[in-house]
Amino acid sequence: MNRSADERRELLKAVYDEARSCERCPLHRTRTQVVFGSGNADAGLMFIGEAPGANEDRLGLPFVGQAGKLLDKLLGEIGMERGDVFICNVLRCRPPDNRDPQPNEIEACQDYLFSTVELIEPNVVCTLGNFSTKLLRHDTTGISRLHGREEVRAIGPRNVRLYPLYHPAAALYTPSMLETLRSDFQRIPELLALGAPEQPEPLDEIPELDAPETPEPGHAPGNGAAMLEPASQLDLF
Ligand code: URA
Repeated sequence: MNRSADERRELLKAVYDEARSCERCPLHRTRTQVVFGSGNADAGLMFIGEAPGANEDRLGLPFVGQAGKLLDKLLGEIGMERGDVFICNVLRCRPPDNRDPQPNEIEACQDYLFSTVELIEPNVVCTLGNFSTKLLRHDTTGISRLHGREEVRAIGPRNVRLYPLYHPAAALYTPSMLETLRSDFQRIPELLALGAPEQPEPLDEIPELDAPETPEPGHAPGNGAAMLEPASQLDLF
């Protein structure tokens, strides 16, 4: 869909306004505030972490603790800063005691994430750790097998270059993981330089085609884009 930057910002603000009073899962009872995400709404690069921690819950911003400092440092090493990127999480509310996100929480929150990606239109999406990687890949393969390997994936109506990375919080305490995260980070500029991956044809611009006599299961006749299911429609857990 062709939206102007102003339209995308307005729509993103509407998603934010909705999220701010969200009661879709029990985490609304224990949060201090919703942590929607922050950064540049026109960014070509997005980072998706796991869930807000205590500092994020208090300040209403993602990655403001030790893991965030490391993220800032790694960004600096590739000549970037927060203002160049958009950062958010799988969950918008803090799980009590920083426990893992639960399947019902992820499901309740995922539309906010997919709408955010759709409206920012990044070319490169870095998932940080297992939760965001599994959610966006619709697959249970773990981050230790996937980090540093980019692939083109559909997120909602768009294709992005998905680039899984170790979570900075995990790398903080494991020097070998930190070195791996650092070297994976070094490839980000190269991925950004590739620009947007090839996109599915917009649904409203696809010409009518004659339907085959017996359509193959799962393939909408004459509609290549229908094969790229929006992630929000997949049952992941
Ligand atoms: N870890 C995350 O995954 N997200 C944050 O916002 C902070 C720490």
